[in-house]
Amino acid sequence: MLEQETRQQIRDMLERFVAEELIPAEAEMAANKAVPDHLITKMADMGLFGLSVPSEWGGLGMTLEEEVEVLLILCRASLSFRSVLGINNGVGSYGILVHGSDEQRARHLSRLASGEEIASFCLTEPDFGSDAASIRTRATRDGDSWVLNGTKRYITNAPHAGVFTIIARTDPNSTNHKGLSAFLVERGTPGLEVGATDEKMGLVGSHTADVILNNCRIPAESMLGQEGDGFKIAMSALERGRIGIAASAAGMSRRLIDEAIAYAQTRTTFGKPIADHQLIQAMIADSETEAFAAESMIMESARRYDAGQDCSREASCCKLFATEAVGRIADRTLQIFGGAGYMRDYPIEQLYRDVRVLRIYEGTSQIQQLIIAKNLLKQGASSMRRK
Ligand SMILES: Cc1cc2nc3c(=O)[nH]c(=O)nc-3n(C[C@H](O)[C@H](O)[C@H](O)COP(=O)(O)OP(=O)(O)OC[C@H]3O[C@@H](n4cnc5c(N)ncnc54)[C@H](O)[C@@H]3O)c2cc1C
Repeated sequence: MLEQETRQQIRDMLERFVAEELIPAEAEMAANKAVPDHLITKMADMGLFGLSVPSEWGGLGMTLEEEVEVLLILCRASLSFRSVLGINNGVGSYGILVHGSDEQRARHLSRLASGEEIASFCLTEPDFGSDAASIRTRATRDGDSWVLNGTKRYITNAPHAGVFTIIARTDPNSTNHKGLSAFLVERGTPGLEVGATDEKMGLVGSHTADVILNNCRIPAESMLGQEGDGFKIAMSALERGRIGIAASAAGMSRRLIDEAIAYAQTRTTFGKPIADHQLIQAMIADSETEAFAAESMIMESARRYDAGQDCSREASCCKLFATEAVGRIADRTLQIFGGAGYMRDYPIEQLYRDVRVLRIYEGTSQIQQLIIAKNLLKQGASSMRRK
């Protein structure tokens, strides 16, 4: 846990960085479909690639609550910036930190925390996304090696990654989550190929691609955790990650509300600023209410997570609510901008396209609904008295 003063200093520094460097770079980033190198270097120098990595490996060693505070500020700028470092902080380092061997931690965590190495997390396949327990990528034991075959789809940062966490089926007789294991595969390993970069609707500064495994032979010690632990590792990484995605949505919600207020106070219709029209005020008020609700539930869930409580239901509630809310907030902001909101001269149309994916990756809204309902139904009607 950081000192209050240090937390405040980090927040102040980030607010300046976002306002003075990231937001002004959004148009250039969108035009070039890449985050400028000097900003990646600056984010690495600020320690943003290693928020959650403990200080013994050069990270900032933040609690989830502290990390969420960072994301709420960082994600006021285009979500592409966060995407560049999001996997290193989340699903790409969590498995190594919690389940990795001493050697795996020593080899990767410092490099991930400094941004020298980029991580990818490979679960989704062409035929299996939501139904992740059914994936077909195979890992076959052969002496002191595992041999991997299969294709992973839409893998964030795959074009830049140095280390890939790959979930594969080690028990050929299983068809569910029990037969899955996790592996660390390094770039350059023969048999691992990264496909062409995907053309996406938004988040254009962040790159996804297929990861193709064709008789990719790796040493037996490349397994993360124990054989059969793959699904558990993936789901625990995603549980933490979902609170992070929710915080990204809430950070962007704040930005969209700021944009809406600034525009509404300067644009005039019928002889007065549109901010004076009560129908515009209603849209701003609805957006603020949803943003405040999202921030509150995210902070509370992060505190519970840090206290060691099981937070799978809370994480799904946060992701479901905050990502659906930012969709509505982006839509209202665009409406407040009128025709200008539809044009590329203003940032709103880019931000509107970017936020759409938040309801899809790391578990769609429907999957969050299923997790929440399953969790509640399992507990029965006494759930309200649980905490
Ligand atoms: C930009 C981007 C980056 C990504 N990065 C990564 C990454 O780094 N690593 C990775 O592994 N994956 C990544 N993904 C993949 C992402 O996690 C999946 O797209 C997501 O989990 C949904 O899977 P799917 O696309 O196969 O949709 P499907 O599973 O085919 O679902 C299609 C629709 O059916 C709904 N649905 C499915 N099952 C049910 C059900 N039981 N009840 C009700 N509705 C249901 C879904 O909610 C969805 O609306 C990324 C995706 C995108 C777009």
